[in-house]
Amino acid sequence: MKFIVDFMLGRLCKRLRLMGYDAAYFLPEKKSELVYRSLKEGRIILTRDHKVSKKKAIKRILIESDFIEEQVGQLFRELELKLDRDKLFTRCVLCNSRLESIEKEKVKGRVPNYVFQTKERFFHCAECDKMYWKGTHWDLLMKQIKRNEKD
Ligand SMILES: [Zn+2]
Repeated sequence: MKFIVDFMLGRLCKRLRLMGYDAAYFLPEKKSELVYRSLKEGRIILTRDHKVSKKKAIKRILIESDFIEEQVGQLFRELELKLDRDKLFTRCVLCNSRLESIEKEKVKGRVPNYVFQTKERFFHCAECDKMYWKGTHWDLLMKQIKRNEKD
């Protein structure tokens, strides 16, 4: 399942990437372009703009809430998403590329020292060169996901 996310929903786009979904971010250009990309790349449109055509797009979901947790909740309900724990943190939050595991010795000097000393597993985005590790961000996300699953 792939998404194209309207520019008003930046946090939702990042969250989807954290959960391992292919989520393209759409900057405010022509709305017709949004539909075109949805069709060409087989992406579900997520938007807050009711003017985005429902008929032409593969699927369009009008996001109701301003709040990220409710937005995620709506998607889980409407698309009957099941969270795949193996896919968590497999995509770069910044650019949507797939992350690769990287050996600990290769990240030395490229992550903060305390991180290097306390963490064992690291991931790397070859596209934008960002490093990832299981830290505070990870714990926070896991808490939020558990909350979503209870709803
Ligand atoms: Zn990246």
